[in-house]
Amino acid sequence: MSADVVVIGSGAGGAPLSARLARAGLKVTVLEAGLRHPPSSVATDEVAQAGLFWMDERLSAGRDPVAFGRNNSGCGVGGSTLHYTAYTPRAQPDDLRLHSEFGRGVDWPLDFGELERYYDEIEGFLGVSGPAEYPWGPPRRVPYPHPPLPLNGAAELMQRGCEALGLRTSAAANAALSRPQMQEGYGVRHACTHRGFCQAGCATGAKATMDITYLALAEAHGAQLLDGSYVTGLRRSGSRLTGVEYVRGGKEHVLTAGTVVLSAGAIETPRLLLEQGLANRSGQVGRNFMAHTGIQIWGQFAEAVRPNRGIPGSLISEDMHRVDGLVGGYLIQSIGVMPVTYATQFVRGTGTWGHALHEHMRGYNHVAGINILGECLPSEQNFLELSTEQDGRGRPKPRIHFSAGDNERRMTEHAEALMRRIWAAAGAQKVWAFPRAAHTIGTARMGHDPAASVVDPWGRAHDIRNLWISDNSTFPSALAANPALTIMALSLRTADHMLEQGAV
Ligand SMILES: Cc1cc2nc3c(=O)[nH]c(=O)nc-3n(C[C@H](O)[C@H](O)[C@H](O)COP(=O)(O)OP(=O)(O)OC[C@H]3O[C@@H](n4cnc5c(N)ncnc54)[C@H](O)[C@@H]3O)c2cc1C
Ligand code: SF4
Repeated sequence: MSADVVVIGSGAGGAPLSARLARAGLKVTVLEAGLRHPPSSVATDEVAQAGLFWMDERLSAGRDPVAFGRNNSGCGVGGSTLHYTAYTPRAQPDDLRLHSEFGRGVDWPLDFGELERYYDEIEGFLGVSGPAEYPWGPPRRVPYPHPPLPLNGAAELMQRGCEALGLRTSAAANAALSRPQMQEGYGVRHACTHRGFCQAGCATGAKATMDITYLALAEAHGAQLLDGSYVTGLRRSGSRLTGVEYVRGGKEHVLTAGTVVLSAGAIETPRLLLEQGLANRSGQVGRNFMAHTGIQIWGQFAEAVRPNRGIPGSLISEDMHRVDGLVGGYLIQSIGVMPVTYATQFVRGTGTWGHALHEHMRGYNHVAGINILGECLPSEQNFLELSTEQDGRGRPKPRIHFSAGDNERRMTEHAEALMRRIWAAAGAQKVWAFPRAAHTIGTARMGHDPAASVVDPWGRAHDIRNLWISDNSTFPSALAANPALTIMALSLRTADHMLEQGAV
């Protein structure tokens, strides 16, 4: 088998680019380790839906080891978008210039204007629901295509608490439909029914997962999508890649390709590169692993909240985008939560078990949470390496070192104090905090300097000219915004650059 372009991984990084290149007439093959999970197969049962996650063991090290498995990355046609909450805020322009502003972190090798036109396009294509006026960031050039979704219980409480403290809030942008939309290559996607199970998959097709949006478009333009195809190696001849090796249906296969795009996410992408000894003249592969500062605050309320109902990502405040004494800032978001996820977090966060746990869970319908997503600075001490332990396939397990830096720790303290005040003002009792890190970011950073980065500003590997990377690994810094929209914007930008340069 052969292809012009082989894309490894079908998430937010791999899917938009695949559609763009297929539409341009290229022969594109997408290899995805996970299976297809169409909306019709999605159960309203978070335990039954566990197959959406990447469950191969990853080793965690450092002072603040990151939880993986169900907590962190997806596996399936659509990647992590199958279980993301679909919050889609844009990055703010100054977050791309942290070093210029603070002398710490790094500047991105591109400016906001280069993302903006892709943000506009993607929001239109996915059918993002959002407010008519958004209080933060540059004014929008085009309105969101759909009005915002109704607030869930936690969002109403957050609104009440923030109002009491004089903080501004806004309905959040969500890649979930508030009214039906025709999707090219898929058909009609129905409006959100507020069932609140976004993190276990969306049964209605309201949520913009990649399988029913960009991958459907890619397939409509002739792309071949092979699910259950686990890539184990990259073939090389001289300074170029010639194809990939993968296992499908228990058999080993080789696909020759003129161009290889790695979109396996910020853990599997560097893992493959390190294993294969590729694209690492800079020594930067696996370096600068980041995870958003993401402390959650939970409380119990007198009124029924029913935290599993409604779109989980409802309300946002970016008033803490800049905080005196911190490098960068954070945004505050309301959370919806399914019962098993809540119980698991409560056990992890408080160590409660047995009778006390049962008693606490009796109050599940009255719990509500808010959390932050905060900047995480790139650091030499946070990195991914290959361990000497092997997984079931005989591949070395990745070990990820993560220790929150001084800025992340102070940001967490600031956010915890503020969110406790918000929750107190909203009437919360029995408040508890769940410090955590969210998302896997960095590990194959982009930059102009081949000695300090893995790929150039368009995602092309400095060392191997027919290898490109399009996923969360190329972010030079974390940005205080949920990452999926920006990953997709970079993905389309990479595809356009490939086409403009005649690089494929
Ligand atoms: C619970 C949860 C909620 C989230 N909510 C939000 C949100 O509201 N908004 C937001 O912006 N972000 C959210 N995120 C984060 C967001 O979903 C991810 O950052 C983003 O989707 C990552 O995209 P990616 O393309 O980098 O990687 P992924 O989506 O992880 O895609 C990588 C794909 O590559 C495949 N793959 C890996 N290795 C191989 C291999 N060897 N061979 C073949 N295939 C392989 C994987 O199976 C996977 O499908 C959330 C994440 C989680 C865990
Ligand atoms: S809340 Fe809406 S978008 Fe989320 S899973 Fe339910 S129907 Fe889909």
